[in-house]
Amino acid sequence: MNHQLTNLTRRDVLASGVRVAGVGVVAGLTTQLSTNMQSTALAEGKKATVIDAHSHIWTREIEKYPLAKGATLADLAPPSFTTEELLATMATEKVDRCVLIAHTKFYGFDNRYMTDSVKAYPGKFRVVGMVDDAKPHPDMEMKRLLRLGVTGFRIVPGRRGDQWLSNSGMQAMWRCSAETRQAICCLINPANLPEVDRNCKRYPDTPVVIDHFARIGIDGRFGDVELRNLCRLARHKHTSVKISAYYALGKKKPPHLELLPVIKRLYESFGASRLMWASDSPYQLVGENNYSASIALVRDLIDFVTPEERAWLLGGTADKVYFFEI
Ligand SMILES: [Zn+2]
Repeated sequence: MNHQLTNLTRRDVLASGVRVAGVGVVAGLTTQLSTNMQSTALAEGKKATVIDAHSHIWTREIEKYPLAKGATLADLAPPSFTTEELLATMATEKVDRCVLIAHTKFYGFDNRYMTDSVKAYPGKFRVVGMVDDAKPHPDMEMKRLLRLGVTGFRIVPGRRGDQWLSNSGMQAMWRCSAETRQAICCLINPANLPEVDRNCKRYPDTPVVIDHFARIGIDGRFGDVELRNLCRLARHKHTSVKISAYYALGKKKPPHLELLPVIKRLYESFGASRLMWASDSPYQLVGENNYSASIALVRDLIDFVTPEERAWLLGGTADKVYFFEI
């Protein structure tokens, strides 16, 4: 998830050691792999694509990929999560592709480690990068990055105070996004939902993705007003939501069952083709949390979707939003 949220996680990492790609707290459940999605895909003679819609990567190769001002190697927690470590993690659960997401604390507005990974592994990755909306013409930078596989941009409140969504650079980004299809990806708290809603109304053709349920549940409870505000965004037809970052929400440990009613409520508002599973690795891989439990919740434990809808949750939506032809 990154930023404020991971302060706790970093402490947990230090306290518990790091376990990357831990397998199977819910192993008994994940063996039920005859999911509806798989059987439908097989019936059609093809395997449905599984996409992790959100993972970070970072490397200790700081000569090639310097860390942002103020960040040091000691801040990397886990100490390393390279492209190859991510691919190995994905392979444990047969995840085909992944959307790489910017980590501002470590890399600022430097998207190169991610765009180099797109180049190194053709077809595997797309990128949600960062551009500086305080600089002139962020839209030109967006178009330059599109050619490198950047099909979305992370935005976060707080960088520009009350003006974070209404300043001219941000407006240029939302306008450009309606043209290029690069999604505006909001890492926000529930309190920011009404202002994002206003911008969605102002820019109805801009694709917008809300990260991690708008962090509803980070305090352990899923507030009705917050959920209603999130679901209200569904009336803008280009909005979608990442159902992700389970390590940070609700009980914050597997099997994450308390998230099922929340996902169901979003499903009833947005439909499956506007929701996407994502792990938020490597944060989901720390302590008792693990990759297996994250995907198992959507692949094996949701019981209110059709096979086709499950395929949307596990990859179809991310494919549509991020893996369009560039
Ligand atoms: Zn994240």
